[in-house]
Amino acid sequence: MIDKYAVFGNPIAQSKSPFIHTEFAKQTQQAISYQAILAPVDQFSQSLMAFFANGGKGANVTAPFKEQAYAACDELSELAKLAGAVNTLIYLPSGKIRGDNTDGVGLVTDVIQHFGDIANKQVLLVGAGGAARGCIKPLLQAGVRLTICNRTYSKAQKLADLFNQFGDVKAKSIEELATSFDLIINSTSAGLAGELIKLPSCIIDSNTQCYDMSYGAEVTLFNQWALSQGANKVADGLGMLVGQAAHSYNIWRGVMPSTQAVHQVLRTQLS
Ligand code: NDP
Repeated sequence: MIDKYAVFGNPIAQSKSPFIHTEFAKQTQQAISYQAILAPVDQFSQSLMAFFANGGKGANVTAPFKEQAYAACDELSELAKLAGAVNTLIYLPSGKIRGDNTDGVGLVTDVIQHFGDIANKQVLLVGAGGAARGCIKPLLQAGVRLTICNRTYSKAQKLADLFNQFGDVKAKSIEELATSFDLIINSTSAGLAGELIKLPSCIIDSNTQCYDMSYGAEVTLFNQWALSQGANKVADGLGMLVGQAAHSYNIWRGVMPSTQAVHQVLRTQLS
């Protein structure tokens, strides 16, 4: 029997995950099915339980359900516990649900692929939502010196306090930013609403590399702004998307798929 997987979200029609996992399955010659499930906003856990009761082996979770997925788990990986959010669920033979979070490792792998080693780099993480939180420990483990800023400063401060046991991390308000950074990562959802975050131009110099977790057909709004301020190089979050999916696939299937070909096809589809 074919093992069943799915991604839960609302909305979900735009999700690239069914395509990505179907390609991974072909590449690794494994028989799986993978569907996108639109869960009603107030019925995530019922939808999830129905899927597992019908033989589902694992699931991805996207907005707005990552925190609800965290709450639905019987067991959590250390990264999921720290992130307070889950994007990968495994239905264990015991009937228990285990949650993991692969967003951070997907981000760090892609950033290194684009920009090279990030150890000891001065990194500015813009935003303090769920995506930012999932990425902080993997970034600190990669050896960066991290500053978090956010429109709502108290959330940045909270994250810095939570993670300072793992490395060099501090919070600054946007008004306090006065020097340039080696790498700036935009984890805000401003671009989704067609908005540009207000940041001072002094954070960018001719060596600054910029990564936007958002992705799309065009150079993202944040990356357009970064280039206009003289940034050295920019990348969007498509590679993070494929990378987090590859790590989910590895958790479920015990084999790490190659991401390059899938990434290239998606890039062509988006352009
Ligand atoms: P959340 O809703 O949890 O957090 C949103 C963040 O954006 C908050 O820090 C919020 O600030 C900030 N923000 C929103 N609008 C503005 C604005 N106009 N100006 C300044 N700051 C703003 O979202 P997530 O963390 O889950 O997702 C963030 C982004 O990351 C999304 O674009 C998502 O698509 C992307 N993402 C990409 C992934 C990938 O694989 N490439 C994976 C996961 C996420 P405040 O606290 O002040 O409200």
